[in-house]
Amino acid sequence: MLAVSPTDRLFVLTGAGVSAESGIPTFRGVGGLWRNHRIEEVASPEAWRRNPYLVWEFYSMRRRVAAAAKPNPAHCALAQLEARLGKRLFLCTQNVDNLHEQAGSNRVVHMHGELFKSRCDSCERRPFEHTETFEPPFEIPRCECGGRIRPHICWFGEVPFELDRVFSELEKCTIFMAVGTSGVVEPAASFVAQVAGQAKTIYVGPEEPRNAHSFDECCVGEAGKMLPDLLGR
Ligand code: NAD
Repeated sequence: MLAVSPTDRLFVLTGAGVSAESGIPTFRGVGGLWRNHRIEEVASPEAWRRNPYLVWEFYSMRRRVAAAAKPNPAHCALAQLEARLGKRLFLCTQNVDNLHEQAGSNRVVHMHGELFKSRCDSCERRPFEHTETFEPPFEIPRCECGGRIRPHICWFGEVPFELDRVFSELEKCTIFMAVGTSGVVEPAASFVAQVAGQAKTIYVGPEEPRNAHSFDECCVGEAGKMLPDLLGR
């Protein structure tokens, strides 16, 4: 079990792997393809300009899959940890599903956006709850300003959300734990190197991530089986 002293501050970074046992495929798991399109080809500003219908079909599929998923023991262990540590835990997810919230985590930072929110691609209107799914033939939903409504997702080539807050929490942490993330997608892949020497660093997942050399310890196993024991029930 992970030793956490009363003065420790934990930074937990989760990736697609933490939701894999809930039935949401990781990008690596599906070979990075959807209907023979590379994920980058349906999750980028260029894709949105080229074919917003295809983009909404992709995100409609992701909304349906995520809406049917339930949190697994890894999400629950992290929610219980928040209940014990309060603000000494900072939970930063690359995931766009809401399984951490469903498990009871209240303070989750979604650096890559949220699947059940949308925003206008033209005006400054705040992102809003949006669960609609689309099947052809359909019209692209429109904002009152005339702009097109797009998923509230950080696409390839866009800047992740809340990075100021994330970097400020990284500076303060004494324990850094990454769960179910391949160590390929930046800037999250570099977080562990940034806290080297300042924090104890641990990775949890069924295989070593690409940046395994930067961690003090790699706990090899599925998150739903490992986290309840590692974090305490
Ligand atoms: P990734 O798809 O690149 O890698 C997934 C990682 O999860 C792999 O290293 C794999 O070994 C690990 N994994 C698989 N099963 C696991 C399990 N049971 N327990 C723990 N780990 C497991 O994911 P990434 O590094 O998060 O980066 C891809 C991008 O796509 C991110 O932005 C990611 O959040 C996003 N994405 C999100 C979702 C989601 O919201 N659920 C799903 C797919 C992709």
